[in-house]
Amino acid sequence: MDNRILVTGGAGYIGSHTCVELLNAGYDIAVYDNFINSDPEACARVMQLCDKAFPVIEGDVRDTAHLTATLKAHNCKTVVHFAGLKAVGESSEDPVKYYDNNVAGSLSLLKAMQAAEATNIVFSSSATVYGEPEFLPYTEDHPLRATNPYGQTKLMIENILRDTHSANPQFRIAILRYFNPCGAHQSGRIGEAPKGVPNNLMPYIAQVATGQRDALNIWGNDYPTPDGTGIRDYIHVVDLAKGHVSAIAYILEHEGCLEVNLGSGRGASVLEVLKAFSKAVGRDLPSRIKARRPGDVAAYYANADKARALLNWQASRSLDEICADHWRWQSNNPNGYEGT
Ligand code: NAD
Ligand code: UDP
Repeated sequence: MDNRILVTGGAGYIGSHTCVELLNAGYDIAVYDNFINSDPEACARVMQLCDKAFPVIEGDVRDTAHLTATLKAHNCKTVVHFAGLKAVGESSEDPVKYYDNNVAGSLSLLKAMQAAEATNIVFSSSATVYGEPEFLPYTEDHPLRATNPYGQTKLMIENILRDTHSANPQFRIAILRYFNPCGAHQSGRIGEAPKGVPNNLMPYIAQVATGQRDALNIWGNDYPTPDGTGIRDYIHVVDLAKGHVSAIAYILEHEGCLEVNLGSGRGASVLEVLKAFSKAVGRDLPSRIKARRPGDVAAYYANADKARALLNWQASRSLDEICADHWRWQSNNPNGYEGT
């Protein structure tokens, strides 16, 4: 009987890279996505890269009946749940949209999983659940305190998952708190394809490099950091994707509800990222200093010890590799999957 891992949001940036790593690890998969922020072409390219076909089901995670039928049809007992909206600014402008899509979507998924007797779930959380740092690096037991509606949705879903596990210990859950995913598959065939003006640092720099934007706006150079610019923990999306494969292996072997950071454990400043990306492109990229972006913190990065100890996983790709791979994708596909 068909027995697959269901990947919700599998056509998206992190989802598509995780599909590659799951297929490479020998798992069968099915993707469930409504393509609100992605393109089915990403799945087609994953199939080409891995030389393996898989079902791609168009659907919304809030459609519990369709999701239940999908889980049953493919006998999925394990779900990797990426589907969600992720723009922090938009979440403040339209919180209802975010609570509905992310929180109601995850509740619908849990109902469908219960109906289909699927009890293994890996969930995409975020370091944003730690809020303003009380200490660094963030360990998994750092206090949790979201500071915007997007972060609230992640924290609410985490709490729902913890409660679900307490009431139903047969649920095996891995909550993965991502730091700053960037880079692309080494082939340059799949990568991040932001719609509109990118909010995040690396996709913005990548569009400066192609000439789609005139210069990087550096949001503040007066932070208490060595060069004054903000520090984050940038993690290669392929390392991140492999972290999901490790998390699945772990929950298939162990009961419980696990929270784990997926970060590199090292911080890089905006200026360091700009320098590394310029090196990848082969010329200095233009930038200008602007005022701080509201809501930004000076620095945060992961303590990655728990992932290493429990999942036997660590990020291995350097900032230079991240930038080289991101640039290969961007220069080959300046408009993402559009027009392909
Ligand atoms: P993405 O937008 O590229 O992928 C999300 C996918 O989910 C898209 O394919 C989208 O079409 C799909 N989707 C959204 N709502 C859906 C719905 N209701 N039903 C079905 N499909 C739906 O984003 P990503 O960067 O790949 O992020 C994946 C997950 O990781 C998200 O949950 C995001 O919040 C989380 N995350 C991302 C980052 C980051 O910086 N990229 C950091 C931390 C956590
Ligand atoms: N940043 C910047 N210019 C940009 C985008 C981001 O200077 O156009 C800075 C931002 O202030 C932060 C870092 O780059 O210090 C990472 O920002 P991003 O939005 O990518 O991630 P997040 O802040 O959500 O961790």
